[in-house]
Amino acid sequence: MHSQLSQRIAVVTGGSSGIGLATVRLLLAEGAKVAFCGRDHDRLATAEQQLKQAFPQADLLALSCDVLNEEQVHHFAQQVQQHFGGVDVLINNAGQGFVAHFDDTPSERWLLEAQLKLFGVIYPVQAFMSALQASDIASITCVNSLLALQPEPHMIATSAARAALLNMTLTLAHELAPKNIRVNSILLGMVDSGQWRRRYAERSDPQQSWASWSSELAQRRGIPLGRLGQPEEAAQALLFLASPLAAFTTGAALDVSGGYNRHL
Ligand code: NDP
Repeated sequence: MHSQLSQRIAVVTGGSSGIGLATVRLLLAEGAKVAFCGRDHDRLATAEQQLKQAFPQADLLALSCDVLNEEQVHHFAQQVQQHFGGVDVLINNAGQGFVAHFDDTPSERWLLEAQLKLFGVIYPVQAFMSALQASDIASITCVNSLLALQPEPHMIATSAARAALLNMTLTLAHELAPKNIRVNSILLGMVDSGQWRRRYAERSDPQQSWASWSSELAQRRGIPLGRLGQPEEAAQALLFLASPLAAFTTGAALDVSGGYNRHL
């Protein structure tokens, strides 16, 4: 894909694993300069090492930052500004889902889900806003979930928080359009990543392979394409929306669910 992001500066939150890591890799392959963050130092260092091996010439910045800590996010933005001198692309990816029905969801968890899905985007957008305003191709792209439009009872808090995020990003797209900052989302179904690998690690049959476990999961859920998505497939959708290839697209939510989408 010729994304026109060569030598441009991209920031990916939660870039040390899964979809975020695949996105950093794709951005580097496109010739972009990339900053990414995560909380766990070891995971961050491993990801950085892998990326430096694969892209020895890359201009890459890996920094520890919890997107729910406003101070840390502002410090992250300052370090990015100091190192690169600007930002063209912000990809809000950091996060995870919470599996529980209403009866099993304590009040603190409702708060945490709302905090993660909203402030995990609000703080980075605030922190990178002035840098984005100075870019001629500025974009903000959020990793969201199909749960935003198609809630699941076993993920009630995550579904509600995802819907709130989708709502907020649409308003943000309209508010930031006069500043020439595009705002879009991808709506994921199930993607092979750290989250699913952790659930696989807790499988009832330790002999079952990942291929068999994940294909059973896809069949059980009725994913029309019959499999989980790959992190690279989510990354490609993110790259498209984040890049000038989508220059006339803002306020959009691109479905990346293998056909799991059941609404019009
Ligand atoms: P992974 O667990 O593989 O990756 C999550 C990444 O986010 C890690 O780098 C993690 O690093 C980082 N992260 C998590 N919380 C924070 C935080 N508070 N501050 C900074 N970094 C954080 O999962 P995925 O790749 O699957 O998840 C990426 C996004 O996609 C998430 O928002 C997730 O909810 C969303 N999503 C994924 C789906 C799927 O099926 N995989 C489906 C729908 C949505 P660390 O833990 O070290 O901080």
